[in-house]
Amino acid sequence: MSEGILNLHNHTPFSDGAYLIDEIVEAHQKCDFEVAGVGISDHLFCTPSSREVKSEKEFERIFGKETRDYVRQVHEARQRWDGEMQIYCGAEINWPLNKTMLDTIKAMLDGIDYVLFEYVDWAGLTQLANQARRWPCPVVLAHTDVTEAFPNTSMDQVVRTLANARIVYELNSKLLPLSQHERWFKVLPNHRVQLALGTDTHDDLSVLRDLPQMHEFACEHGLKEKLFCPKIRAEEPQAVSR
Ligand SMILES: [Zn+2]
Ligand SMILES: [Zn+2]
Repeated sequence: MSEGILNLHNHTPFSDGAYLIDEIVEAHQKCDFEVAGVGISDHLFCTPSSREVKSEKEFERIFGKETRDYVRQVHEARQRWDGEMQIYCGAEINWPLNKTMLDTIKAMLDGIDYVLFEYVDWAGLTQLANQARRWPCPVVLAHTDVTEAFPNTSMDQVVRTLANARIVYELNSKLLPLSQHERWFKVLPNHRVQLALGTDTHDDLSVLRDLPQMHEFACEHGLKEKLFCPKIRAEEPQAVSR
């Protein structure tokens, strides 16, 4: 793979982003640094604005088609940009709203290359850690300030939990300024935890300018070899019936 940066956290109008996949890719191409790939990571499944779901059946009925439509759109964009920009198909999942549906969700991820979990508390992280290695694609802990999210847990314990479960940690623009996370970034490189970079692009493309400093920060902290690069999964989602 080239030396360029991967930005794995971008939203489109499929969820709450303002720019189409093509517009996001074009904006990355216009950057004055090299971008090696763009990950689309729209919110899937239950969100604060979706309606309440009571059963697994209902969950599948409501979100199954939506998820397949999303995957198809991202895969089509991948084809369109073939040879120009590598596009990854991610998804962001709200932990509190979906934590009871994990088994159902796991079976709905055909064609998705990685999942970002947001708003995970310590109980959630331990639950996720117990099963993350059995997920069909890599699991990423999204935009988490570990001091804030896990106030009663030592950084050492957090990093060990991530490492054992092979959960990827995301360095997100939301964590800027990065100087306030020095303590965590002294602990993180001591264990085998991969690092994803993401800007959480919604309606402001100027966040892409944060990428070089995030990448540099990662390299300065010895994480260059641990930068996460998803593997492309099944070109087309499986047939609808199962
Ligand atoms: Zn988020
Ligand atoms: Zn996001």
